[in-house]
Amino acid sequence: MTPVMSTTMTTTTTTTTTTTTTPPPAAAETGQAGTVSCADLSVRFGGTTALDGVDLTCPAGEVLVLLGPSGCGKTTLLRCIAGLETPTTGRVSIDDRDVSDLGPERRGISMVYQDYALYPQKTVYGNIEFPLRMSRVPKAERQRRVHDVSTLLRLESLLERKPAQLSGGQQQRVGIGRALVRNPAVLLMDEPLSNLDAELRAQMRAELRTLQRELGMTTIYVTHDQSEALSLADRLAVLRAGRVEQVGHPEEVYRRPASRFVASLVGGMSFLPASHAGPTVPDTAEVVGVRSEDLRAGEGGPADLTVSGSIVLTELIGRDRLVHLDVDGVTVRARLHADYPISSQLTVHVARADLHPFTADGHRCPLPTSEGNPS
Ligand code: ATP
Repeated sequence: MTPVMSTTMTTTTTTTTTTTTTPPPAAAETGQAGTVSCADLSVRFGGTTALDGVDLTCPAGEVLVLLGPSGCGKTTLLRCIAGLETPTTGRVSIDDRDVSDLGPERRGISMVYQDYALYPQKTVYGNIEFPLRMSRVPKAERQRRVHDVSTLLRLESLLERKPAQLSGGQQQRVGIGRALVRNPAVLLMDEPLSNLDAELRAQMRAELRTLQRELGMTTIYVTHDQSEALSLADRLAVLRAGRVEQVGHPEEVYRRPASRFVASLVGGMSFLPASHAGPTVPDTAEVVGVRSEDLRAGEGGPADLTVSGSIVLTELIGRDRLVHLDVDGVTVRARLHADYPISSQLTVHVARADLHPFTADGHRCPLPTSEGNPS
C-alpha cells in the first residue's frame, strides 16, 4: 500500500538557500490556525461539473463540515483546498493570502482520508514520524513531536506495533497523528470514520471533537452522515450538485432548512401537500414539511395541523417508536413514546412553529410572523 503523502510535507526546517526562486511558505505553515476561503470555485471534468461557483469561508479554529450526497463535490472541494486539484475557475486563499498557485506541500495543510493508508512495514512511531522525516526535521525534534502527538492520541503504549496489530480505531488514530504531527494550520478530513463500526465511530467522533477543541485547528470535515455532521460542526455547509445549498450553524440548518433538499438531508422530514395546513402556511407553499419528533398524538398543545392516517409500519428506537402513517398516499413518520397505545389508525398534531413550508421548486417560504416566531 502506498500512502498518499503529498499533502503531508512541510519544509519548516529546511536549511537550503532556495528561497529566492521558491515562493515563501504560506503564513499558515507557522502552525497557527488559518482562515480558509474559496471564491467562485468551479471544477469541470470533461462534461461533468463537480463544483459550480462555490463561495465558502472557514474562519480560523472552526470546524466546517461539508455534508451532501454522493457525487455532490465534497471531495473535489477538499482537494482544491489542499492543492491536489486545480480548479477550472476560482481561487483559494488562506489567511487572505492567495494560495491557488502554491503546491500542496506549501499550503500548511494536512489531510486525513477514509483509507488510513498507513505504511504496513513501519511501526506506529515510524508512521507518525514519516512526514517529519520527509521535511528533514532533526531527530530530537521529531522524537519530541511524535511523543507529544502519541500522548495526545493515547498511542504511547502502541508505538512499536505495526498497523496490522492495531484495531480500526487505533489505525485511524495513527492516521490522525500523522496529520497532526506537522502542526498544520488547516486539517482536512475526508470521511475519516466511515471504515469504523457504529460504536467506534461514535467514540471517535467525540474524541475528534475534544481534540479539535484542545488544539483549536481549522478543520474542514467531509461526511455524508448527517448525525456526524450535526455533532461535529461549528458550521455546516450543505452541498448539492456542486453548489452550496445552505451554510450555517448546525442548529440553524436543522431548525430552518433553506430548502426541501436540506430538510430531507438534515434530520429528515415528511412532506404533505400544503392544503393539509390550510391558512396556517403562505399561499406560495406547495408542501409542508414536518419532523417526526414534532408530531404529537393525543390531546394537549397547539394543533395547527392535524392529520390522520393508517399505520403501515412501526420501528422501535429505544424509548420511542417511529410510526409510519399513510396519509392519503403520503408517508408521514411520527416519533412517539414506545408505550403509546397503537391501533390501526392514528391522528397526529403539529404546532404552527414546527411547520416548514416550501415552494413548488423546493425553497423555504417564510411563515407570517404574527406569533412573533418567524419561521
Ligand atoms: P462521495 O461522497 O461519493 O465521495 P463526493 O461528494 O465527494 O462523493 P466528488 O468525488 O467530489 O463527490 O465528485 C463530484 C463529481 O465529480 C462526481 O460526479 C464525480 O463522478 C466527478 N469526478 C470526481 N473526480 C473526477 C475525475 N477525476 N474525473 C472525472 N470526474 C470526476
